[in-house]
Amino acid sequence: MNCDDIKLMISEYLDGELVKEKEAFLFTHLSACGDCREEFKIQNSIQHQTKINQREVSDRFEKKLFSTIENRNKTFAHRWITKPTPVYINYLLGIIVIAITLFSFLQTASLRNELYAFQMRYENSLQQINYQAMQMYNMMNSLPAVEIQPIKTSVIN
Ligand SMILES: [Zn+2]
Repeated sequence: MNCDDIKLMISEYLDGELVKEKEAFLFTHLSACGDCREEFKIQNSIQHQTKINQREVSDRFEKKLFSTIENRNKTFAHRWITKPTPVYINYLLGIIVIAITLFSFLQTASLRNELYAFQMRYENSLQQINYQAMQMYNMMNSLPAVEIQPIKTSVIN
């Protein structure tokens, strides 16, 4: 078994794929061979670094994912609160204002009509009263004059 085989075993060991029976053989060789010990250190540090990088990437990915979710939630809430008024609501408000104006105008008109009718009735009754007064006046004037006769008294005589 040469050093190339050992290098293969080192990478298998670091990947956790080396069978237990070969471990003793590997470490026996490493204790005797400086080159392979060096190779072991290099591969170990490379794998360690790779794992750290992977963890960092994964951490960063998670952070990014969470912040994206948070942002999306925030954006959703924000959008919900500061939602611009849709155009149709403006139209609806306009129609409501016009309807209220028209309604109050009609109410005023009908009130004015009622007032006018009342005024007409009042004037009618006033005319009737005048007419009746006139009739009474005429009737009074057409009555024959009353003859006033002196009261006969025997007291003076
Ligand atoms: Zn070796």
